[in-house]
Amino acid sequence: MTAIAVLGSTNMDLVAYVARAPGRGETVTGREFRTVPGGKGANQAVAAARAGGEVVMIGAVGTDEYGSLLRANLEHAGVDTDLLHTVAGPSGTAHIVVDDEGSNAIVVVPGANATVTALGPGEHAAIAAAGLLLLQLELPPAVVREGARAARTRGVRTILTPSPVQPLPAGLLDAVDLLVPNEHEAAALSGYGDPHAAAEILLRQVPEVVITLGAKGCLYAARGGEAIVFPAPEVTAVDTTGAGDTFVGTLAVALAEGRAVPEALAWASSAAALCVQRPGASTSMPYRSEIDAA
Ligand code: ATP
Repeated sequence: MTAIAVLGSTNMDLVAYVARAPGRGETVTGREFRTVPGGKGANQAVAAARAGGEVVMIGAVGTDEYGSLLRANLEHAGVDTDLLHTVAGPSGTAHIVVDDEGSNAIVVVPGANATVTALGPGEHAAIAAAGLLLLQLELPPAVVREGARAARTRGVRTILTPSPVQPLPAGLLDAVDLLVPNEHEAAALSGYGDPHAAAEILLRQVPEVVITLGAKGCLYAARGGEAIVFPAPEVTAVDTTGAGDTFVGTLAVALAEGRAVPEALAWASSAAALCVQRPGASTSMPYRSEIDAA
């Protein structure tokens, strides 16, 4: 077992499927509605737990019905939720409209996630005890930075998924060991659309970067070394939702187990390829036995 702490968001995704998204002031009738546990933090926690990691989730849910469903979903995956606080008010929600072309429009209301503004002694102890800390940008930026800096002080490796992409608070990247943006996030953060050029710029701020490239795989680069592209397994994708979080969660498990980067990236790529072949986000994340078999 491998201790991985996740400091991140827990949301309920409220997904409406429609032929065409409504314009301003317009009402359209949808075809189907689903509630799906989500939030980048919780998704990465589930992916890591299914891949065999011992995972502790740091964050918050609300006192609404979604709060207990979200907690139960994490616990069902084997994630330790002792530091997932329940705070008065609504849980985080993502209101998603998916049209017949597969395009989506999303409104995220942070809810309880917005109340995670500082870390207490329990959170600091969990980070210090972990082998690795996973961070994203769906909690208030100041607490993400606090978590990263706490990890850095204790010598705990940090992985940041810079999503949703936004200007980063000063002092955050200084405490990040591995940055894992997708192609669009890498371009937004570096100003370069070409992943090789983007990696070169990002390496000025972090020692290692993995840029995920969808069906093309990923690009890994470390300071002072050559960038390497790892191709993704060729599969038929039916739903890529959650692929990025599956990739990061399983990569974290492999790295925390001390595996070398090329092996860890190959394992994470196998896991993400399994995820895209099934519908759903956290429901499509593979278990360790499936990843090993692939
Ligand atoms: P999402 O937002 O859909 O979760 P993302 O934009 O964060 O994903 P991507 O770069 O699209 O991240 O995908 C992450 C990883 O998932 C890729 O590096 C790759 O390993 C895997 N992957 C994604 N799409 C495919 C695909 N069509 N076939 C095989 N692997 C894929």
